Amino acid sequence: MPPEQLAPDLWRIKVPLPFRLREVNLYLVRGSHGYDLIDAGIDTPEARAAFNAALRELRLHESDIGRVYVTHMHPDHIGMSGRRAKAGSRIFLMADEERRARFVWGTEPLSDWIAYTREHGAGGEIAKGIVIAVNSIRRAVSLPDRFEHLRDGDVVEAGKRRLRVVWTPGHSDYHYVLVDDDARVIFCGDQLLPAITPNIGLYPECRPNPLEDFLWSLGRFEREAAYTVLPGHGANYATLPQRIGQFQVHHDERLAGVRARVASGDGGGVTAYEIVKHFWGDALSTHEVRFALVEVVAHLEYMRLRGEISREDREGVRRYAL
Ligand SMILES: [Zn+2]
Repeated sequence: MPPEQLAPDLWRIKVPLPFRLREVNLYLVRGSHGYDLIDAGIDTPEARAAFNAALRELRLHESDIGRVYVTHMHPDHIGMSGRRAKAGSRIFLMADEERRARFVWGTEPLSDWIAYTREHGAGGEIAKGIVIAVNSIRRAVSLPDRFEHLRDGDVVEAGKRRLRVVWTPGHSDYHYVLVDDDARVIFCGDQLLPAITPNIGLYPECRPNPLEDFLWSLGRFEREAAYTVLPGHGANYATLPQRIGQFQVHHDERLAGVRARVASGDGGGVTAYEIVKHFWGDALSTHEVRFALVEVVAHLEYMRLRGEISREDREGVRRYAL
């Protein structure tokens, strides 16, 4: 698919994904000395072919890309960053996101994750499947030897645009968005997606309350109500306050559903995995079970940290009760 020109200096390049999400948007910005890129895409043969075809269409070489801003460490956003670095680009990530990127996409065994799935009531088969799934995604990620680090409030350049770095934890601990106040545009990564709600999951090595983080992040866009959102997946939109309201409703409903399951426990408490089974049955792939499990745990821990429910660890299994 040819790159889509969104402004005289701005193109959207769609890169295919091997997930249900289907594709990720990369944004290419032209400056006077070259081009900068927002998000890197996943590193599969299909994604590389699509990206290289887009560059050919624009008569560009890999070495024309000066800076690559990676919004967060998920594979569809960071995957090709190592290749971009090899071709000479500088790669930017928030400082504390690098540690997790190196762990998840490195070669360390995922023993914490296996312990975590067991703790939350999922059997050994589920844990094994998750490890196989993550190992296969590891092959679709190449990291640069070195990242340059961004901080909340930094102002960076992409082409001739000046972009404000806004830290938006929740979907990933050190996810950021780039705000262009002159063009009134937000390059939002996965933070403010148009059609789906971003997965908010609690992973063992992460900040303890990602749902609270995410809801806090949504509150950072009051002044940008009329801005256009350029998302990492899906189409642009310009109805940010309504969309933020939908995210809040979604999580309120999810919280109510999870709370109802906790309330239905017979006094012995329920595990996160029992709640996943209740909502999704056997309809999920292993990849999706992982997302569902971490999402349910994020909601349970949000309520526990507010004092609404309690947690008891018995024989190595975490059970939640009112
Ligand atoms: Zn993501």
